[in-house]
Order: sequence, then C-alpha cells, then structure tokens
Amino acid sequence: MTLPVIERKPASRPLPAEQREEVLASPGFGDHFTDHMVTITWTEDAGWHRARLVPYGPLPIDPANLTLHYAQTVFEGLKVHRRPGGALAAFRPEDNARRFQASARRMAMPELPVETFVAACEALVQQDRAWVPSHPGHALYLRPFMFATESGLGVRAAREFLFVVIASPTEGYFAGEIRPVSVWVAEDHVRAAPGGTGAAKTGANYAASLMGQAQAAAQGCDQVVWLDALERRWVEEMGAMNLFFVYGERVVTPGLTGTLLPGITRASLLTLARDLGHEAEEARISLQDWRRDSADGSLTEVFACGTAAGVVPVGSVKTAHDRWTVGDGRPGRVTMRLREALRAIQSGTAADTRGWMREMAQTGHRAPGRS
Ligand SMILES: *Cc1c(COP(=O)(O)O)cnc(C)c1O
Repeated sequence: MTLPVIERKPASRPLPAEQREEVLASPGFGDHFTDHMVTITWTEDAGWHRARLVPYGPLPIDPANLTLHYAQTVFEGLKVHRRPGGALAAFRPEDNARRFQASARRMAMPELPVETFVAACEALVQQDRAWVPSHPGHALYLRPFMFATESGLGVRAAREFLFVVIASPTEGYFAGEIRPVSVWVAEDHVRAAPGGTGAAKTGANYAASLMGQAQAAAQGCDQVVWLDALERRWVEEMGAMNLFFVYGERVVTPGLTGTLLPGITRASLLTLARDLGHEAEEARISLQDWRRDSADGSLTEVFACGTAAGVVPVGSVKTAHDRWTVGDGRPGRVTMRLREALRAIQSGTAADTRGWMREMAQTGHRAPGRS
C-alpha cells in the first residue's frame, strides 16, 4: 500500500510568538491548540487519501452526520517532550498507532497504517515545533482521532471517515505539587462489560463514565473507580487511568480482561518496575482485597497512571458503606520512584535503553516556524 503524501498548506498568519509564549507559560490541559492540524480522508473507494497539513480550525458538520448520532469515533493521546539538545521526541507513538488500529477494528472503522499515523504526528510536530513547551514536566499533547463523516440516519458502519491530528501544549492533568487523589468506588454503574468496547479508546466509553465521575465529585472525591460489570467485585480502572497496587516491593495491576483500556503507561511501568528490581505482575484485585490489605498494612501504596497525568498516587478510598486510607495517605516511595523513572526517560535525563522515544523534530538553534 502506498502511503499518502502530506500536502502542506501552512497558516499564513500563525499566532504571534509573544502570544504563544503567554500560552506556554501556563498552558493548562487541553485548553489551547497549536496553529495547525493534519487531516486524512478515507472512503470505501479510494482508501486513505487527501492527506493535508492545514491551519487549525472548525470542521464542517452535517446535522445528520453519523458520528453525532451513533458515535462511530476513536481517539488517541500521546505526548511529545523537549529533550536536552533541542530534540522533540514522542513516547512510544507506534504503540498508540497500533492501539488506534485495534480501537478502529472494534468500532467497525478503517485501520490507518502505523507509518501514516506516525508520519501525520511528525508532520504536525515539525510544523508547530515552537509550541512544544520547554518548562520541565510540560509537553505537547497530541490528539489523533477519527470519526465518520458520512451523513444519514440508517444504522450501519459509515463509508467515509476523517482522521485528524491536533496538538495542545499541556502542563499535565493534575499539575503542580503531587497531591494524592481520593477515589469513589462506583457500585451502581459500570464503565464496560465483557464483549463490549472497554478496550477501545472510543468516546462512548467516556460518555458512559461521566455520571460516575459526577457522583464521585458529589461524594467529595477526585476520581471514580470502576469495578467489573459481572460480579461488581474486581477493580478495573480509575476514571481514564490504569491502577497499580503496591505490596512492599511487589507491584500488581489488574490484567487486561477486555474491559480495561490497555494503557501504554501501564505497560511501560510493568517493564520499568522489573528493571528497578521489583516483582511486577498482572492479577485480579477485589474491592475486598483493597479494603482488607489496606487495613492490615500489606498494601502499602496505590497509584493510577496514564499519558495525560503520568503517575498519580491514590490516597484514600470511599464507598457507599465505608472509607479508608491507603498506606499513610501520602505519595509512596515506589510510586514516586516509578514516576521519576518514567519522567526521566521522557525528558531525556535518563538513557532510553528500550527505544521508547521517537524523535520527531530538531529545534537546535534554528528559528521556529519553518521546516
Ligand atoms: C487512555 C486511557 C488510559 C491510559 O492509557 P495510556 O496509553 O497510558 O495513556 C487508561 N484508561 C482509559 C479508559 C483510557 O482511555
């Protein structure tokens, strides 16, 4: 298959450098977008074609657009880090590309070749490289997504899709000092059921989770924790992040049962934990285990992980019946060690021995805004 060549039509008037620097000083999360986006069209007849880098802007949408009605859409999230010497590198983008294919398959959508996914990200990063924050811990968050562009109300898989990559400078989801989050365990609602779409990164899973998140907030908690749909017994995920349980030097994360999102941060931390001499395994953890092992002190730490926020300690748990503290309620030693190990690889202060970082652009001393 030949890959579409990305035609460049850059903005004639990108945001002035002064205003861009203002944004970069305090970017928030997902509030600001760079000057450009990449779009690639798919149709049943022509396959992937019409790849373009164009100014960031609204997309026209028909009221009968199939995505608005039947939610045929998938997305990804990955970060580009500025490294010592000026290189801009993405963390494991091929893994995001492969997961994007898996999500698309589940939602009856066409699969974008891995190389095209990466090339689209790379084109955008090269064009908008001045938007990659230099503040430590900040990064450029890439949001590739795909949705049905065909119109009609008949229920079926669409025959036209648009793939888009946009980019947003970010300081991380839970920015600032490391504050452990409190969680509310949802026992009335589920995020995903066996055979469903829980392993796909699709908007519908998020829509299904928002009520649980709102209930967590009403309970005074930061985040919602999901249990399995069948027994309402096994811990699955926290909001849109994977969970790890630390028993002394041993770390455990729920196995990929098909109802969890296979996080790339999760996979990376399993590897890093072993590199650091920890025992690391995938196993089932029940809500009852969590409560009992916290009480008897064998469970020393719990943390959540994902691209947007990195590694986040979980300090306390609340259910309809009780509440308890994890460890001493403060960020744990193993949590912080893994958090730093991951950040060091991403920021370039530790060696990337596994080839996780993929260079997408060089800034060097060249002026930004030109390739
Ligand atoms: C994206 C996501 C994660 C985290 O995946 P990463 O690849 O680590 O960013 C975890 N759970 C859900 C539901 C997600 O959508």
